[in-house]
Amino acid sequence: MQWIDGKPAIGGGGELSVINPANGQSVETFRAADSVLVNNAVGAAKKAFPEWSSASPVVRSNALHNLAQILEDRSAEFARVESEQTGKPIRLSTGFDLPGTIDNIRYFAGVSRDSSAQAQNEYSPDHTSSLRREAAGVVGSIAPWNYPLQMAGWKILPAVAAGCTIVLKPSELTPITSVMFAQAATEAGFPDGVINVVTGSGREAGEALVSHPDVDMVSFTGSTSTGRRVMQIAAQSAKRIHLELGGKAPFLVFDDSDLEAAIHGAVAASLINGGQDCTAATRAYVQRPLYEDFIAGVTALFEGIQLGDPMDLATDLGPLISSQHRDRVHGFVERALTHGAKVHTGGRAPSGSLSSGAYYQPTLITGARQDSEIVQDEIFGPVLVALPFDSDEEGLALAADTPYGLAASVWTRDIYRAGIVTRSLRAGTVWVNDHIPIVSEMPHGGFGASGFGKDMSAYSLQEYTVLKHVMNENTGKARKDWHRTIFAIENRATTKGN
Ligand code: NAP
Repeated sequence: MQWIDGKPAIGGGGELSVINPANGQSVETFRAADSVLVNNAVGAAKKAFPEWSSASPVVRSNALHNLAQILEDRSAEFARVESEQTGKPIRLSTGFDLPGTIDNIRYFAGVSRDSSAQAQNEYSPDHTSSLRREAAGVVGSIAPWNYPLQMAGWKILPAVAAGCTIVLKPSELTPITSVMFAQAATEAGFPDGVINVVTGSGREAGEALVSHPDVDMVSFTGSTSTGRRVMQIAAQSAKRIHLELGGKAPFLVFDDSDLEAAIHGAVAASLINGGQDCTAATRAYVQRPLYEDFIAGVTALFEGIQLGDPMDLATDLGPLISSQHRDRVHGFVERALTHGAKVHTGGRAPSGSLSSGAYYQPTLITGARQDSEIVQDEIFGPVLVALPFDSDEEGLALAADTPYGLAASVWTRDIYRAGIVTRSLRAGTVWVNDHIPIVSEMPHGGFGASGFGKDMSAYSLQEYTVLKHVMNENTGKARKDWHRTIFAIENRATTKGN
């Protein structure tokens, strides 16, 4: 589970197992990365940086094209392993995670060839200025478990396309496809040391990486609380930092919306990846005239969702990442009930043949208070809270009322209503009449407690570069005009001589 300097490595930490959450069985056991291994990985990335950062764009682009082809050829194997380590339905791995990652690789293979910076001009009469966009250096990157392969791509691709070298620490729960990705990159022609993967706990391997003096930039995706800790550590050596944190996306349904579309949208967007998606629809605010029908429609669809074996093509919803996480999700539901909320459907783990996995039923909560934990905090499970509102202003205010700002959606046929919401909500993505789709060309990232910096798109490439101003003096004079600011005596002497 370690890939350093173009080859496998063995960690010096304790033994860890990757567990299939659908059945509790071990998929793979390995030794965790300790600080010595992290140091080796950073050393490899540092050694590889001068050559990789000065490689011509076509060299980097060709390696990325080769990598895309390898993943495409092996997509069935990648999808199977991704589903085994996360429990996500194979339909999702095959239809979303793999094609999304391959498209991302191809996108960065293209955009990496456009690394120029603009501005070449005489901004002062005696000088020509130009800008160089240069790789930020060695990147230490930390990723979560919800979309391990996609997150590895989102972290690695813009960094290496920009000429950086990288050490990625995936979640210790789901490292396998990240290592497969790094191995495929070596086969694709990436020089040794450009892409390294270390797997160990956040406390040990993660902190060793973030605090390492040879890491120039930290890019982190995970929860807001861990992001704050990572930022504190990185601040001690003033590292450049990029944070993609939690979300609590509102789903705002106005009374003129297409109700069938809104109901189907809410179900798909709240249950995708078991609700373990930072942009998942979590808070449905529905204008009063449609509220009862919305609740009835979502309840009916939730009750028809097929929980089951992730490898079965008929399965809609797999287990959550672990039984501990399932218990955490259930804790949110139980506490909401003690504060007056009501479970409309779901609200427990299924019994019978699924009880050996970390399954949780699709759950619809009503009657929660806006200031309660279940409305304000990220649950990261298949739980949708629905609340009614009356005026447009009230709906907008409720949607805006959490510290997060990653994503939101508005459902209406009225372009003026949609315009007010898209302008007003402080969220990195606002969908109109949809919720979840992403494209490689467009940035993903948050406002407020959801962090800062962008993944995907050409904007993410810029995050991994630093602008350098180069200024050429054009006159060739030994005594420049501006020297008068310092050579006052010489100027006086010259004046006397005259
Ligand atoms: P997490 O607990 O914050 O962990 C994320 C990563 O940080 C893991 O690799 C973890 O390692 C590591 N880590 C933990 N403590 C650390 C420390 N002290 N120093 C350095 N690294 C540390 O988040 P998660 O539960 O894996 O993932 C779910 C969260 O990710 C949700 O909040 C979700 O919204 C967010 N997310 C955000 C985006 C986005 O684009 N904004 C995308 C996906 C997910 P170990 O777990 O291996 O110990």
